[in-house]
Amino acid sequence: ELLGLYVLWGLLWLWQAVGALRLRHHGYEDMVRTLFKVQRECPFITRVYSIGRSVQNRHLYVLEISDNPGIHEPLEPEVKYVANMHGNEVLGRELLLALAQLLCEQHKLRDPRITSLLQGVRIHLLPSMNPDGYQLAAEQGYGKYLGGRGNARGVDLNRNFPDLHLIPLQADSRGGRNHHLPLADNWTEQVEPETLAVINWMKSYNFVLSANLHGGAVLANYPFDKASEPRARGSRRHPPSPTPDDKLFRQLAKVYSYAHGWMHQGSTCGEYFPDGITNGAQWYPISRGMQDFNYLHTNCLEITLELSCAKFPPARELPREWAANQEALLTYLEQVHRGIKGMILDENGNGIDEAVISVDGINHDMTSGLSGDYFRLLLPGQYTVTVSAKGYKSKTANVIVYPQEVTRVSPQGWGGRAELYTVCPHSQVRVRDTVTLPLHCVSTLPGQG
Ligand SMILES: [Zn+2]
Repeated sequence: ELLGLYVLWGLLWLWQAVGALRLRHHGYEDMVRTLFKVQRECPFITRVYSIGRSVQNRHLYVLEISDNPGIHEPLEPEVKYVANMHGNEVLGRELLLALAQLLCEQHKLRDPRITSLLQGVRIHLLPSMNPDGYQLAAEQGYGKYLGGRGNARGVDLNRNFPDLHLIPLQADSRGGRNHHLPLADNWTEQVEPETLAVINWMKSYNFVLSANLHGGAVLANYPFDKASEPRARGSRRHPPSPTPDDKLFRQLAKVYSYAHGWMHQGSTCGEYFPDGITNGAQWYPISRGMQDFNYLHTNCLEITLELSCAKFPPARELPREWAANQEALLTYLEQVHRGIKGMILDENGNGIDEAVISVDGINHDMTSGLSGDYFRLLLPGQYTVTVSAKGYKSKTANVIVYPQEVTRVSPQGWGGRAELYTVCPHSQVRVRDTVTLPLHCVSTLPGQG
């Protein structure tokens, strides 16, 4: 009993110490100081880097947190959180700073969950994509209608990404490319500096999972944001505009909403959304948004999280908001381990990048990264996966993705023939908590060279 009291007291103390430290609004200088403070406190698992500058020349700083910061380890997925893209929507910015401090502190305390998260994932946090807009909003104070949604030139950054939607429609009808759709030659001239920085960032890291943190509602919004068809006459709502990964996106959105304190209840700010989730276009269609761009141009699955009714909540509400989001922010990142991943290697064991990973029934391919590793998030089920790369024969595998578990579809049984490479599920896959069994090697399946 006494021990229990001590534990309780310890937890309370920790909660207070941590809470007092972390939960306040951070202006730009304060935010930057906080990022570097975390870096100093946890130097071996963090790195601060800038992805570019805003219109008013503020650095867009990212805090990276992982067991080997600065290094992409093959098979360790890259994930990101982006906040404060709308400068006057500020809760996400504070949540990411709190998350950074939590990860650092819990790592120092050797918390097993955090340790395993940081060993298995490389996390990139961009607490403010729009620091100029934030300054404008913060100067105006709370309560009234806040400027600062756009950047210093008044451009809404979530309407500023290249629109790639016209291409898949053409591609669909021709049976053409359904992923990594090309940008126009002059795309850099068509976007704001903040957007340019973020796109170059997306090109530099093979991000697999992401969320974009906003405010003004409480729900998890998944692609597409752009309407695929016009609203029916007399109807208030637009029809949904689903991606080929619709089921997966719904699940990702639900994972966040159900791990959140109240988002899943779906009726926080006056409108009702079942499960606290919605397809973007079904809520309200937009063009040139960031989550659609992630999906159409990169390997990254991104959803948009609306986290508070008030865009600039008073500081006294931050502890409650942090309590509501802390578990959800962690659980969402852990979803990156669902599905399959593996290495695409040539006959000498060198990684093949830009190999294409296709899943039957999902018209959206992923590609391998520079080291030849790939990640394909999938819901539990049975899939037929084909890998193809220029100059190589394609290879097809049947894969089972089990619930609650990462399925490794990794290299093994390498044939040593120049024209052939294998994708092979070989690792121990836990089916239930106690039983382990190896999957069959792909090269034993019929139809293999
Ligand atoms: Zn927003």
